[in-house]
Amino acid sequence: MGSDGSVLTWMHQVHGDQVAVIGSSPMTQPPDCDALVTATRGLVLAVLVADCVPVLLADPVAGVVGAAHAGREGVRRHVVSRAVEAMVGLGATPQRVDVLLGPAICGRCYELSQDLADEVASAAPGGATRTRTGAPGLDLRAALAAELSRLGVGQVVCDPRCTAEDPSLFSYRRDGVTGRQAGVVWLPQ
Ligand SMILES: [Zn+2]
Repeated sequence: MGSDGSVLTWMHQVHGDQVAVIGSSPMTQPPDCDALVTATRGLVLAVLVADCVPVLLADPVAGVVGAAHAGREGVRRHVVSRAVEAMVGLGATPQRVDVLLGPAICGRCYELSQDLADEVASAAPGGATRTRTGAPGLDLRAALAAELSRLGVGQVVCDPRCTAEDPSLFSYRRDGVTGRQAGVVWLPQ
């Protein structure tokens, strides 16, 4: 618990599309999921990433926030759409939800097989690209921006930094064994 009474909530991320709605009672252990949403003030939602996208969402009028972990599987399974739906269930309005897409591996660096690229492109159009070597690539944040646009959310801000290129950021692709960036979002008490 922080000095202001805030409580940090982590998740056990599993590259799926499950969302945990966190109420006012503290979790005894991190839920297995890839998105957290809450309407509880002072509850800090945390997402850990090394190349996947940390997605932070907030409807400040309704007082609802969310944090999601969106890598290739999260993009393919639309975990961010599931998170917005859960926020709507707590009173949020998509048009008022502002979103931050944090540092992640960029499309010029994220190479994948043609089969996987085709699979992701058909499920989540907007992210298909070519890497700097001309191989099939995936721009996770472009796919998420397209998904969020289809949902009609408010402002989407993208931190353009690439985890694989920026040595100040952790990258699983670049380093193998690595640390994680944390993205956090909360409603002030
Ligand atoms: Zn890059």
